[in-house]
Amino acid sequence: MTALAGAAHVDAQDDVIAHDTDGDACICGPTVVPRRCSDGSLGWHVTHNRLDAPERPGRNAHA
Ligand SMILES: [Zn+2]
Repeated sequence: MTALAGAAHVDAQDDVIAHDTDGDACICGPTVVPRRCSDGSLGWHVTHNRLDAPERPGRNAHA
């Protein structure tokens, strides 16, 4: 696995699993795209896939 220097990781916080923010080999299968920084250097934008379902079942389980 390769460390992506200057990579920006998105949506890797507060998820139900621990994301690997040191490279692009996270278990969620992140999308990695190159990005141009404001200083002209090239970096990486790593968008993680959150594994906590946004549509959780409600708490009114008792019927
Ligand atoms: Zn991830």
